[in-house]
Amino acid sequence: CASRTAPQDLHEKLNDLSSVKKVIAVVSGKGGVGKSLVTSAMAVELNRRGHKTAILDADITGPSIPKAFGITERAKGNEFGIIPETTKTGIDIMSVNLLLENTTDPVVWRGPVISGTVKQFWSEVIWKDVDYMFVDMPPGTGDVPLTVFQSIPLDGIIVVASPQELVSMIVSKAVKMAELMNVPILGLVENMSYFKCPDCGKEHKIFGDSHIDKIAAEYGTRVLAKVPIDPDLAKSVDTGTVELFVGDWFENAANTIEDELKV
Ligand code: ADP
Repeated sequence: CASRTAPQDLHEKLNDLSSVKKVIAVVSGKGGVGKSLVTSAMAVELNRRGHKTAILDADITGPSIPKAFGITERAKGNEFGIIPETTKTGIDIMSVNLLLENTTDPVVWRGPVISGTVKQFWSEVIWKDVDYMFVDMPPGTGDVPLTVFQSIPLDGIIVVASPQELVSMIVSKAVKMAELMNVPILGLVENMSYFKCPDCGKEHKIFGDSHIDKIAAEYGTRVLAKVPIDPDLAKSVDTGTVELFVGDWFENAANTIEDELKV
């Protein structure tokens, strides 16, 4: 709600007309591991369950959320703030791609401008009656994600990794960052976990064996999902139809969010 205040005074205030019950950051060690895909799918899954969901695309230099939902309109504003775009199924989104004249232009802003933009997305956008907001974070654990962490009051963090990454290192960094900010890690998502052969049904571990269960146990957290390499899923995010995706990979993750972060 609008009166939400920060433990440290670093958090930006929400717009007076906004109401956001729970905020979940989706983080990854590097780009290209499927962070945006997981963010989009989680917002879709919880929206399907009747919750009002929203996505704040904080991945300013690699914004892929509008594309996943097929949104090409520019965001509009009024004297009270910026109005997010609403997807076909009613998910509110805000992204730098909704502000740029030409969405193919690269965003070559420096760190402070990037974090300033994200802060504005939080404080100047009118987020109406949102149950769950997902923040597609800038990849990595550097300065920019850290500033975002500090400026938005988060309720939980989801870590996305692929099997070929140094998952343990990424998880360790994310856990440290989360502890620093006093935000719980909700769990880990292993993306591109395996490929299921459409002919014989056998699961192939393209990127090698998974260590995600062991790592989750080591850090006292849980595995929320193991998402296969799925050409249909890729097609849905790459053609703007992520709201139509079919699959049960995100059900367990959504159950956990509903249990841990009740709205
Ligand atoms: P990030 O946000 O981490 O940079 P994206 O979510 O944009 O990564 O994904 C990068 C690319 O990989 C996209 O083209 C996406 O469609 C593809 N991709 C991600 N996850 C999967 C998956 N499980 N199966 C198939 N393609 C995937």
